[in-house]
Amino acid sequence: MNEKMYYEKNVICPICNGSFSLLKIRKSALRVVKTDDDFCNYYSHVNPIYYYVSICPHCYYAAPEIIFDKISYLEKKRLKPALQAFKSSIDFWGERSFEVAIVSLKLGIYCCEVRRTPKSIIAGLCIRLAWLYRMNEAQEQEHYFLGQALCFYEEAFSSESFPIGGLSRAGVMYLIGELYRRMGELSIALMWISRAVEDPSIKSQPFINKKAREQWSNIREAIKRSSDSLSI
Ligand SMILES: [Zn+2]
Repeated sequence: MNEKMYYEKNVICPICNGSFSLLKIRKSALRVVKTDDDFCNYYSHVNPIYYYVSICPHCYYAAPEIIFDKISYLEKKRLKPALQAFKSSIDFWGERSFEVAIVSLKLGIYCCEVRRTPKSIIAGLCIRLAWLYRMNEAQEQEHYFLGQALCFYEEAFSSESFPIGGLSRAGVMYLIGELYRRMGELSIALMWISRAVEDPSIKSQPFINKKAREQWSNIREAIKRSSDSLSI
């Protein structure tokens, strides 16, 4: 283990009460080199998405660290039988490769769906999967999980309180619009981003405000170009 990059944290599993160590990345090791318009960060060394999902080595309970311990009696009751038959030869507890990170996110989605967590949690897992596939130039899988993230963010938008995944109401509207843009649905993307630009909460977020205005004019241009080419 590279001690400048990682450290270990002892954890007790809330499902089976087994104890284990999680590999954690030191904040000082994170270097963002680029960010895409849907907030996908690229890192020069280690990628924190690889370690976003914590997994118990005894029962394979998996969840983002922020909700790993926050599990109700009813959620435990739903999860226990669903995990009973699960076995894997994958080592989730050392330094994770791209392939192991992908499986960890999928296991996280499975457990969150069984638990019936808020949709925003599942949206956050799906968008991270899409980002990892993007970084690996796997376009078909990226597109599939962006579509999944979009569905879950839309459900979360209409049923959960803000902030959602660290984003305000205007921030979520911008992200939904940006995901529609990436799915090729330009008119719906423009509608969501217009709503973000007009939302009073955007004034207190200069970064989102700037991004939303830039994407609003980019999408308008793209729509104009496609209607011009149709009329030739
Ligand atoms: Zn466990």
